[in-house]
Amino acid sequence: MSREGIRELQSKRLQETVRRVYENVPFYQKAFQEIGLEPGDIKSVDDLSKLPFTVKQDLRDNYPFDLFAVPKSELVRVHASSGTTGKPIVVGYTQNDINNWADLMARCFAMAGATKDDTVQIAYGYGLFTGGLGCHYGAERLGATVVPISGGNTKRQLMLMQDFGTTVLACTPSYALYLAEEAVHMGIDLPASQLRIGVFGAEPWSDNMRKELENKMGIDAYNIYGLSEVIGPGVSMECQCKNGMHINEDYFIAEVVDPETLEPLPYGQKGELVFTSLLKEAFPVIRYRTRDISVLIEEKCDCGRTFVRMERVAGRTDDMLIIRGVNVFPSQIESVLLAIGETEPHYQLVVDRKGAMDDLEIWVEVSDKMFSDEIRRLEELERKLRNEIQSVLGISAKIKLVEPRTIPRSEGKAKRIVDKREL
Ligand SMILES: [Zn+2]
Repeated sequence: MSREGIRELQSKRLQETVRRVYENVPFYQKAFQEIGLEPGDIKSVDDLSKLPFTVKQDLRDNYPFDLFAVPKSELVRVHASSGTTGKPIVVGYTQNDINNWADLMARCFAMAGATKDDTVQIAYGYGLFTGGLGCHYGAERLGATVVPISGGNTKRQLMLMQDFGTTVLACTPSYALYLAEEAVHMGIDLPASQLRIGVFGAEPWSDNMRKELENKMGIDAYNIYGLSEVIGPGVSMECQCKNGMHINEDYFIAEVVDPETLEPLPYGQKGELVFTSLLKEAFPVIRYRTRDISVLIEEKCDCGRTFVRMERVAGRTDDMLIIRGVNVFPSQIESVLLAIGETEPHYQLVVDRKGAMDDLEIWVEVSDKMFSDEIRRLEELERKLRNEIQSVLGISAKIKLVEPRTIPRSEGKAKRIVDKREL
């Protein structure tokens, strides 16, 4: 579709969505009335910035179902965040929503080169989290053979991967790394297996991590993006050019805004991603602030698709550490570690405050071989990492090299930050 065609489609669907939320969701009706906005004022995507933002707290305040735009009898499914404290955030789907989501996810798998002939092992968690079931319905819609194994049970994952001839693995990048590592321990040669595609997401990761996973598993690794509040996985996906994720613009409008002023930023500038859903019936969202930091790319992609792309998420505004006034994202550290290449990409950032000074300590695992080496080489590596991190972040950090397999592994999203400061 031409850019103009996409804009027209988005404008039409935006008007319908705005009317739907105004008529069916008291929260939006009130928010519109407070700024004197009527549904008829929104005529095209150019009017998007007239609409109010929605934030996570709005979901909490309307727990569990008050943001839904359909009666409960129309819901066929709910998902929720796995938050350990307080009430979760809840999202809902009609039958049409589930159908659309399955189409979207089938499109995403196809973009990575998967077909009905593939066997897709889904090692994202199943349950209230959208990752597992979102991928599941999409892979089924594609006609692939689905192995709904969910997360965890690593040895069994690897056994079935070989026995079933898994060709596509869907999970978080940190869990993929764990699987690759365990395969080596079990004497399994993953690059020689039938596995050929990785669909990795649900946490920020770096391009160097992609290379690492591709080498260790003998695959092409693709980045997928999504969040429950917008639909789940499938909001955007990389094509085989691997140069940013195409946003599924027939379903969503993406914006990037300045996280401080909330002013929309032009394509090419870094800021917070904001999404408006265009087809969702049960849980439409208007200008939902994701807290994810990225850049939108308008230039046409070599694959020929016309949907705008988003760069891989650099971090989340709520994952962003401010250390001595400098913004630090865990993915920056990951990139440095992988570029140097003498350590394992398992790391944790430990932040503490000594007196008035923030103290950043980076725990990094070294390989078995390295650890048994002479002290002098370890000291040299520590110095190299310290210098490189200083030059990338602009602040100093203490490097603590730790023994292999001492940093806890995750079967879902990795825990990269231990913040001991009482802020
Ligand atoms: Zn492309």
